[in-house]
Amino acid sequence: MSAQAQATALRDQDAPWTPEDAAELYRVDSWGAAYYHVNEQGHAAVWPHGTDELSIDIAEVVADLRARGVPFPVLIRFQDVLQARVRRINRAFATAIEEAEYDNVYRGVYPIKVNQLHEVVEEVLEAGQPFSMGLECGSKPELIAALPHMDDDSALLICNGVKDATMLRLILAAQRLGKPVIPVLEKYTEFVEFMRLAAELAVVPRFGVRVRLTTAGSGRWRESGGDRSKFGLSIPEIIKLVEVLEARGHPESLELLHFHLGSQIADIQILKQAVKEITQVYAQLRRRGVPVTHLDVGGGLGVNYDVGYSSDEPGISYSLQEYANAVVYSVQEVCEQQDVPQPALVSESGRALVAHHSVLIVEVLGAYTKDRITEDFVPAEEDHATVQRMYETWKWVRQNGGDAPTPAQLTEAYHDVWEGRNEADTLFALGYLELEQKALAERLYWSVCHAVLDSLNALQDEEAPAELVELEEQLVDHYLCDFSVFQSILDHWAIGQGFPIMPIDRLDEQPTRRALLVDLTCDSDGKVSHYVSANDDKRFMPVHALREGEPYDLGFFLMGAYQDIMGDAHNLFGRVAEAHVYADAEEPGNYYIEKIIPATSIRDMLASVQYFPNDLQRRMNHLIRQKVEAGVIRPKAGTELLEQYMRCFDDSTYFDTRAK
Ligand SMILES: *Cc1c(COP(=O)(O)O)cnc(C)c1O
Repeated sequence: MSAQAQATALRDQDAPWTPEDAAELYRVDSWGAAYYHVNEQGHAAVWPHGTDELSIDIAEVVADLRARGVPFPVLIRFQDVLQARVRRINRAFATAIEEAEYDNVYRGVYPIKVNQLHEVVEEVLEAGQPFSMGLECGSKPELIAALPHMDDDSALLICNGVKDATMLRLILAAQRLGKPVIPVLEKYTEFVEFMRLAAELAVVPRFGVRVRLTTAGSGRWRESGGDRSKFGLSIPEIIKLVEVLEARGHPESLELLHFHLGSQIADIQILKQAVKEITQVYAQLRRRGVPVTHLDVGGGLGVNYDVGYSSDEPGISYSLQEYANAVVYSVQEVCEQQDVPQPALVSESGRALVAHHSVLIVEVLGAYTKDRITEDFVPAEEDHATVQRMYETWKWVRQNGGDAPTPAQLTEAYHDVWEGRNEADTLFALGYLELEQKALAERLYWSVCHAVLDSLNALQDEEAPAELVELEEQLVDHYLCDFSVFQSILDHWAIGQGFPIMPIDRLDEQPTRRALLVDLTCDSDGKVSHYVSANDDKRFMPVHALREGEPYDLGFFLMGAYQDIMGDAHNLFGRVAEAHVYADAEEPGNYYIEKIIPATSIRDMLASVQYFPNDLQRRMNHLIRQKVEAGVIRPKAGTELLEQYMRCFDDSTYFDTRAK
């Protein structure tokens, strides 16, 4: 069955298309969580608080931004979604702790590497304040950014990553201030250095260690744990470290044990196993008299970008509550068995906190289809014999004496026209075919391909011959999108991660085209190569035909984790504009736009690669003056040209659909 037939096979063919059909097609239920949905108007919409009491129409927000002249693409941050996620995670742990009667607290930290943007960090801290939510940093710049935000003395600042003496000294200084800034030592040598610096300052240091567990994660990030991991202290190293602390009379310096299984933990059983393993280490240390107070289970709480996209990406099969339960109950079980006090629990969920809150809005600039002949085409007598034959095939596929052709006949027609085109190419290469005739042959080829595919789709329930699957790929429309894969969805290119993409409007209309989304970069990898949809064939996205003079906007969802920060300046496409949107039931449409952050200007992008306006202006002026002196253009035209050039520096780096 062809892809288009598959798309529609799920539903009753005669029933009118509804917004629910669109939600099913784009699998909104699998990734939208409690936040994204399709409303009755057929628009993408968000429930900012994660409950269906209040809804914001995304198409309305986009129309509003367009009316204000914001350049596209634009990233919309739904700050309430971010806050709702923070509360949800903290409440999940609170519920687990209450139900298990766990004898200690949960203190989550947000690893800022997932999205360091200042407002994101501030929103997380604000929403996390009632829960004493802290931060995690993994590098020196992240520590410098995070430290001044630690107002609450009961919120932790966990410092992972490789730490130099500057960083370790700063951490010790913060501890002297009374801040719970806990370095997690990753190497034995780091411990030696940290102890040396603490002795210099005559303070008793506080720290944690990353434990190299036997349990390894699974999936792409599995090497974050296990024997081969580049991180963590082995058990013999931990014993050695504890002996040093005991000899100095300060075993309480070791406050925290940490592990991190890697991002997107797919299997909750592996998490439980790792938690139990580290709790055994904890329990043994407690029994030995080392009063460790915190267990840190790292990040990796998964986000469903798409359930079951393919066999190597099984999706996340557990809920947030199950995750919290797994941690709480596993630690409790081992502690009870070993008869030791229950430690405070720390987790470092990043992706699960921030992924949902942002949506990238991308305009489709145009649809590119293969050039076909017109319906009323009739070859002229002098047209080449090859062209005549291809025309006969075309006529046959379309009419066939009124009978529906069989798949075998359609395959044969496709083979015929393929041969015709090959023949035309060969004749042309040898100089026996004119350019116009070659053009006709190509257009006839695409026309037959389309007709074959249409007939095949009309058959619906038949198995598609292999060649015709290949045909679909050749015939798909290219939708040129105003964005850069490398700036906005780097992980799609780098590690093949899928992101849900859906038109934000016209969802009450059946999509009739299938498209490959391609970006603005001059890179053949600048495209989206698989899509989240209910179709079996994920290589193409079901889309609507474009309408003249009407924008067609696609929403790229779950963009908040990693993509915001890892973007790359390929072709000098810079950061996109941002709109910060807050829910407000008193406002029309239930929202207001709190802030608009402009896109990176051409001036700033150029400066990052050491081109500066003064120098460029001088050079441009020189070029123009030479031509003025040579009489090629008038001086006035020269001045205008220079002004025209200089005005471009303040533009955004993307295609400007507003420019006329
Ligand atoms: C990256 C990282 C995290 C965040 O992982 P998520 O999968 O985004 O939750 C947490 N802890 C450490 C040590 C990390 O390196």
